[in-house]
Amino acid sequence: MNSVPLSASGRAEAGAGDGRPAGSAFLVFSDLDGTLLDHHSYSHAAAQPAIDLLDALGIPLVLVSSKTRAEMVALRRRLANGHPFVVENGAAVFIPEGYFAEQPAGTVARDGYWVRELAAPRARWIALLERLEGEFPGRFEYFARAGEAGIAAMTGLPPAQAALANAREYSEPVQWRGDDATLEAFLAACAAGGAKVSRGGRFYSLGGEADKGEALRWLRAQFAMARGIRHIKDLAAGDGANDVPMLESAGTALLVRAPDRPLPPVRRDEGVLCSDAVGPAGWAEGVTQWLCENGLVTQDS
Ligand SMILES: [Mg+2]
Repeated sequence: MNSVPLSASGRAEAGAGDGRPAGSAFLVFSDLDGTLLDHHSYSHAAAQPAIDLLDALGIPLVLVSSKTRAEMVALRRRLANGHPFVVENGAAVFIPEGYFAEQPAGTVARDGYWVRELAAPRARWIALLERLEGEFPGRFEYFARAGEAGIAAMTGLPPAQAALANAREYSEPVQWRGDDATLEAFLAACAAGGAKVSRGGRFYSLGGEADKGEALRWLRAQFAMARGIRHIKDLAAGDGANDVPMLESAGTALLVRAPDRPLPPVRRDEGVLCSDAVGPAGWAEGVTQWLCENGLVTQDS
């Protein structure tokens, strides 16, 4: 960890001068839980000095998470972040309307955002689960059917947070209540119905094939096009297996250490930074190192 005071050595590139974000040739994509936010306290305090450096340099910080739009909107407010963001593990990219001079092709305008959807909507997975109820009666419960009170009971979340967790647009969490042998048949039936099933702590999540890497590549191309820049230098930071597609897609991958498991299993050898510190402190350490390596910050003596 670099303990020497750092200061921005200049803007990454001059801004457009019309109030729009600077036309940066640099971009940072970051996971939230366990990466920018502490795994237990959800605090980003240890990352704040590096967030300030990115702000000072006009480098967009794009948040990329498994969280829902509703959850991410609240977090972006807390982080004072006005940049595009990626929800539900890459299912959709939300760009604040007017962020770029032109609305990107392939997006729809909705609720003040230009939205690029990379996965099927939640309704598709709810319909699949309704169909499977006949085959596996009473063996599973899912958020849409459980409602807020049921979700609060299943998760232990307070009602307000249960409502946020239920505000999903592209995936559906399922709790299995049957035996292991039947579970295999159920997961196979979900896959046959077109769902990609990922396992979280206590829930399975049904969703489409999108991943964080695809979202990163699409959004990076939009930045390049909007700014008229051929090559963008980007950094992706993550701590988990669901970050690997994003970590493989960026120019530089920052693997952020977790307290209780190994670093994300990337296949690349080049352009990889591994943090020594855990969580947001490791994030700040890696982001700062990347800025130093690119000559964007200087060490104050
Ligand atoms: Mg994470």
